[in-house]
Amino acid sequence: STFQSVGLIIGVTGIVGNSLAEILPLSDTPGGPWKVYGVARRPRPVWNADHPVEYIQCDISDAGDTLAKLSPLTDVTHIFWVTWANRPTEAECCDVNGGMFGNVLAAVIPNAPSLKHICVQTGLKHYIGPFETFGKIKPHETPFIEDVPRLNAPNFYYTLEDMVFDACSKKEGLTWSVHRPAVIFGFSPYSMLNIVGILCVYAAICKHENAPLKFPGTKAAWNCYSVASDAELIAEQQIWAAVDPYAKNEGWNCSNGDLFKWKHLWKVLAEQFGVDYVEFDENEKQVSLAEMMKDKGSVWEEIVSENQLTITKLEEVASFWFADVIFSGECMLDSMNKSKEHGFLGFRNTKNSLISVIDKMKAYKIVP
Ligand code: NAD
Repeated sequence: STFQSVGLIIGVTGIVGNSLAEILPLSDTPGGPWKVYGVARRPRPVWNADHPVEYIQCDISDAGDTLAKLSPLTDVTHIFWVTWANRPTEAECCDVNGGMFGNVLAAVIPNAPSLKHICVQTGLKHYIGPFETFGKIKPHETPFIEDVPRLNAPNFYYTLEDMVFDACSKKEGLTWSVHRPAVIFGFSPYSMLNIVGILCVYAAICKHENAPLKFPGTKAAWNCYSVASDAELIAEQQIWAAVDPYAKNEGWNCSNGDLFKWKHLWKVLAEQFGVDYVEFDENEKQVSLAEMMKDKGSVWEEIVSENQLTITKLEEVASFWFADVIFSGECMLDSMNKSKEHGFLGFRNTKNSLISVIDKMKAYKIVP
């Protein structure tokens, strides 16, 4: 074939999966030209349909469906694992996410003899612990560096790592890389955790109700230095790791390389939606965004129909609880030194990253 590499994106409609689908097929992408398969559970959405990717609708939590749909893909050279499933407890998360990963590995590894590399996306919870133990176990010292011991708590990120280590130890020439972003700024109306999407929807509701854009968080979150990870930057790091020999068999932090404060981005967000910017007021009682938005489903329906937006349900486009987690306290910072020292020099200006995601949300008519 005329392709040098064949990528299989698991979670192609997700926040990073959609960026991989955009970038991998480009003619100047390292390792290319790339042929690309993309897997997701639901039918292909319009905002994903322009990417030259062979779309495969498959439920990877179903072993039979996964084997049927993925075992015929005998030319795959690289797997990009950019998916996850949420469950009430971390023990269940380990089971379910491990099961999904196992289904895909069992369908692909024995059938794709040219498989060379597996990129696994996890995140900074590698150093902090899962949501359920926030505040209960002592996180690692910040800024987080990659090569610290694991925390003593169940974590589905460790499950995925152990599985990929095992798979690579059993197949000559198969390598892995693990990517650990901070909170991700990216475009995907299907993502379970999309902070910019949540903030866009919140801002649109404030605008519609003529209310000021209040910061639904703590003073610490408003004022502290924070880091974020642009979805396209994460895709670039994964592609770097997929092709660069110095990047193999290592874990990599992946954040933008600058610091920001939410109080500054709040002004940008307010401007983009034409709502009143208000400073954080510590005399006011803190309210959770999930609580504030819990009865706004019909307001969202009105906004969607008045502005002829893509039809979405409020709870699909905005999991407000995630903003409550992000804004609950000081952001924990990571270090990008290891990545830079090994040759990945990519970065983003976080303010520009925010604006470009908002522009995309508007262009695809997800928000007004
Ligand atoms: P996402 O929710 O944006 O996308 C998930 C993708 O997987 C979607 O395309 C979805 O359709 C697909 N998918 C889900 N279940 C499936 C199934 N059973 N069968 C087939 N496809 C299925 O994902 P994400 O946020 O990129 O998460 C990937 C990893 O990144 C997770 O471990 C997450 O914790 C981590 N992470 C996310 C963020 C963030 O801000 N989103 C930040 C840091 C780390």
